[in-house]
Amino acid sequence: MISGMQHNLQIIPIPAFKDNYIWLIHHHQQAVIVDPGDAIPVLETLRQLNLTLHTILITHHHQDHIGGVSLLQTTYPHAKVYAPKLEQFTFEHLAVSELDTIHLKEFCLSFSVIDLPGHTLGHIAYFCQNVEKNSHLENILFCGDTLFGAGCGRIFEGTATQMQHSLAKLAALPTATKVYCTHEYTLQNINFALTLEPNNKALIERFIETQKIREINLPSLPSTIALELATNPFLRCYSNEIQSAIHLKNASNIEVFSTIRELRNNY
Ligand SMILES: [Zn+2]
Repeated sequence: MISGMQHNLQIIPIPAFKDNYIWLIHHHQQAVIVDPGDAIPVLETLRQLNLTLHTILITHHHQDHIGGVSLLQTTYPHAKVYAPKLEQFTFEHLAVSELDTIHLKEFCLSFSVIDLPGHTLGHIAYFCQNVEKNSHLENILFCGDTLFGAGCGRIFEGTATQMQHSLAKLAALPTATKVYCTHEYTLQNINFALTLEPNNKALIERFIETQKIREINLPSLPSTIALELATNPFLRCYSNEIQSAIHLKNASNIEVFSTIRELRNNY
């Protein structure tokens, strides 16, 4: 937590591949990059904005999140790279896991690391409280492929129980936290969520809003924890409407979660 520090922080998405976002945080002429799957659009953006790469944050080992690291390291040899302790990487990095904090003095930012096994076993998120942005304080979360707008990542390495526990950790963060996900899946996720909760007013509103935003090709992200709690079926396994839709009345949260994850895989 940083208080009383004046700074003007910007966070912008760099689109990559078909539907990835590489997030860029900049303060004065320094930049932090989250999950650079591709170096080329990152280098281009850094050049356009006249920024120097200071730090790279990695959430997990999938290629579309790390593919650009080596070239960025070659171009900016002083940049520090943080990556999950429980995963293997061929590039030089500082390994971090839960209870670690990353202090970025130049940005007046301190990120806590949160372990989120499920999508991959070592997946982590970076969470920062009380960031002064546009003259007000915000909490920010970079959550990789664990939480998406109205959805969640596929379970590739962990179990459904691990994934649900990881999502519950994120759901417990302050509701005003801004959520920076790494894929533009929100509209597909909302369409799926509507098959489970067609009467959820917040979800219907989100559908209308997201459709407008996507029609003009703007990102549907960041989201907030509050919006996800109101609309994301993977955080709403207790919902009677969802349980009725999948014929699992009074089932445990984990049964409901596994069932809707499976349905989403085949949607
Ligand atoms: Zn992934």
